[in-house]
Amino acid sequence: MCILNYVQMPIGSLRWQFLHGLRSNVYQPTEGPPDSTTSPPNCTPHLAFHRFGNFRRRLQEVIVVVGNLVTMDHHGRTARLELEDANVRRFAAKVLDVSSEGIVLDRSAFYPGGGGQPPDFGALSFDGIFCRILGVRKGDDLYLIPNEEDPLPAVGTSVEGIIDDVRRFQLMRTHSALHLLSGVVFRDFGALVTGGNMEPLSARLDFNLSEVPPGFKETIDEMCNLEVSANRAITTYSLPRDEAFAIPDIIRTATNLLPDDLEIVRIVDINGLDVQADGGTHVSSTAQIKRMRVAKVENKGKGFRRVKIELEE
Ligand SMILES: [Zn+2]
Repeated sequence: MCILNYVQMPIGSLRWQFLHGLRSNVYQPTEGPPDSTTSPPNCTPHLAFHRFGNFRRRLQEVIVVVGNLVTMDHHGRTARLELEDANVRRFAAKVLDVSSEGIVLDRSAFYPGGGGQPPDFGALSFDGIFCRILGVRKGDDLYLIPNEEDPLPAVGTSVEGIIDDVRRFQLMRTHSALHLLSGVVFRDFGALVTGGNMEPLSARLDFNLSEVPPGFKETIDEMCNLEVSANRAITTYSLPRDEAFAIPDIIRTATNLLPDDLEIVRIVDINGLDVQADGGTHVSSTAQIKRMRVAKVENKGKGFRRVKIELEE
């Protein structure tokens, strides 16, 4: 399992988490739709992760979120296109609802956030009008958060959804880089991940590694980039629960905490290196991550090492 799923907020705080993220990170292009050639400013929602004060309790809370993430191709009334194809950037949809909560579509490729990966930004286009989308919130439905000043589509309108490609692809590369890092550190040092966070092109993972061998930082930097160069395929697929859990290490520390009714598990597989249950969007090969740099290894307490990575543009 992608341990990043463990470090989401407890369910009761998800709404707060998302609104907080939006307030502090408003995407404000001057006009028109998101430009696929430039990144929006301040485009990193702040995900306020909790420390693992009571790891097991938090794990149980978050596993329910994971269950939703990895078993459903819908959220509420919205079909989630990005789970099937992470490369969808434009899609046709119909507006089902518009309220103070946001805009609900019948289908959407906007990644709503989760597993440590922040939500997408973008726009809806209709009748020659653009309504900028500043984020996504998961409630009973999947709510797209419009820019307050933009015109809203009426219920029943056919719209085109447009995903900010620069931001999304950077997040896909970063998310895949974290899985690669997790796979390398587990394979070579046997250390498990206990937390993490990501922004476009920079991220961190925390490992339960009691002692750091000499040259640890340089070694994992070299090993990670060897895996990038190896151009391993990254694939996503769904498996019945029993088959998924038969894969060695897939859930690692959390197998017995997954709910019994979790029937289908979405898998992200870096061929030959790392297999995890995961609901995020990923690039299709490790070469697409491009060079990743292990920027820092910090000692955050007994057996608690924080590895920070940066990706090139
Ligand atoms: Zn993940």
